Amino acid sequence: MFFDDFEEDGEEGRLVTSTKGEYDVEENVLRPKTLECYVGQSKVKENLKVYMSAAKARGEVLEHVLLYGAPGLGKTTLAHIIANETGGQLKLTSAPAIERSGDLAAILTNLNEGDILFIDEIHRLNHSVEEILYSAMEDYALDIIVGKGPGARNIRFSLKKFTLIGATTRAGMIANPLRDRFGIVCRLEMYTPDELEEIITRSARTLGIEIESRAANEIANRSRGTPRIANRLLKRVRDFSTVNHNSAVTLDDAKYALDKMEIDNLGLDEIDRALLRALIEKFDGRPVGLETLAATINEDAGTIEDVYEPYLLRLGFIARTPRGRMILRGGYEHLGYKMTKKQSEQVSMFDSND
Ligand code: ADP
Repeated sequence: MFFDDFEEDGEEGRLVTSTKGEYDVEENVLRPKTLECYVGQSKVKENLKVYMSAAKARGEVLEHVLLYGAPGLGKTTLAHIIANETGGQLKLTSAPAIERSGDLAAILTNLNEGDILFIDEIHRLNHSVEEILYSAMEDYALDIIVGKGPGARNIRFSLKKFTLIGATTRAGMIANPLRDRFGIVCRLEMYTPDELEEIITRSARTLGIEIESRAANEIANRSRGTPRIANRLLKRVRDFSTVNHNSAVTLDDAKYALDKMEIDNLGLDEIDRALLRALIEKFDGRPVGLETLAATINEDAGTIEDVYEPYLLRLGFIARTPRGRMILRGGYEHLGYKMTKKQSEQVSMFDSND
C-alpha cells in the first residue's frame, strides 16, 4: 500500500514524464532535508515556517496541508521536510493504492501523535475512502458502519492527532468538502532557470559530479521549470560526459547530450513538438478536445494534461479555450511555421500578444 509496493509505470525511459518512480533511487538522495535547502517557492516556505512554529509554540500538531502543482515540483520533498522539521514520522502512500475504506482505516489507526500522512494524487481517492477521511481530518475519529440494513450501527474510534498532507496535480478535481478540511493550501510554481541552476549545482555536488556553471545553466534552461527534470537531465548529461572521458561536465557536453536527447533550447521534447505539430497540421490551428488530441498523437490524455500542457501553457504556446486546446503564435514560431491568414485570425482571438 505504501510506495514500496508501487509498480513501475513503464515510463522511466522518458525524461519529461515527471512521474515519480522507485527506479529513481537517487531521487531520495537528492531531496533537500530542510526548508533552508529547499530552493525557490519563497511564499510557500515563509508561510509553512510560520504555521509550523505556531503549531509548535501551541503544542499542537500542524494543520492538514494541501500541496498542488505539476509533477516534479517538490510536493513529496516538502512532505519529507515538514516531517523532518516537526519531528513527526512520515508515512507515504498514494490514492490509487488505497482501494477500500478498510485500507485507509488500517493506515489511520497505525498513526501516532504528530505523524505525517502523505497521500499523493489525492484527487484520485474513491468516494467511500474519501468519506472516511472527513471525520479523520476534522475530529481525529474513524466512523465505521458495522452491519447492514436496519441493524447497522455506527461505531466511532478515536485516532491520534496527525497531519495529513495531500498532494495533487489537479486542485480543481478535489471535492469541496475535502478541500475545506485542509487548513493550509499551498500552490507550487514552476522554477526559474536561476533556481534550477542552483538545484542542479547542489545535486551535482551531492552526486559527486563536477560541472561547469555554464553547463548547469544550459541544463536549467531546458528543464521546463521542473526540478525532477533538471536532476534527470543532469544525470543523462553526465553519462555523455563520462563516455567522452571528460572529468568535468562542460557546456559542450551539455549541449551535445541535450541535442542527442532531442530536447530543444526551451526544453521541449519530441512529444511536445508532435503535439504542437498536430494542432497545426491535423487541425489547422482550430481548437481541439483533449481526448481527440491525445488519440492523434497516441499519448495518454492525463499525461498531456499533467505533464505536457502546463509548460506549453506557461510558454504561451497553447491556450485552453472553451472549445478545446489551441496553438498560439509562439507555438507556430517555435516550430518555424508561417501562419496562414485564417490561422492568424483564429489565433488573434486568444493570443494575448495580439
Ligand atoms: P513531486 O512530489 O511534486 O512530484 P518531488 O518532491 O518528488 O516532486 O521532487 C522531485 C525531485 O526534485 C526530488 O528528488 C528533489 O530532489 C527535487 N526537488 C524538488 N523540489 C526541489 C527544491 N525546491 N529544491 C531542491 N530540489 C528539489
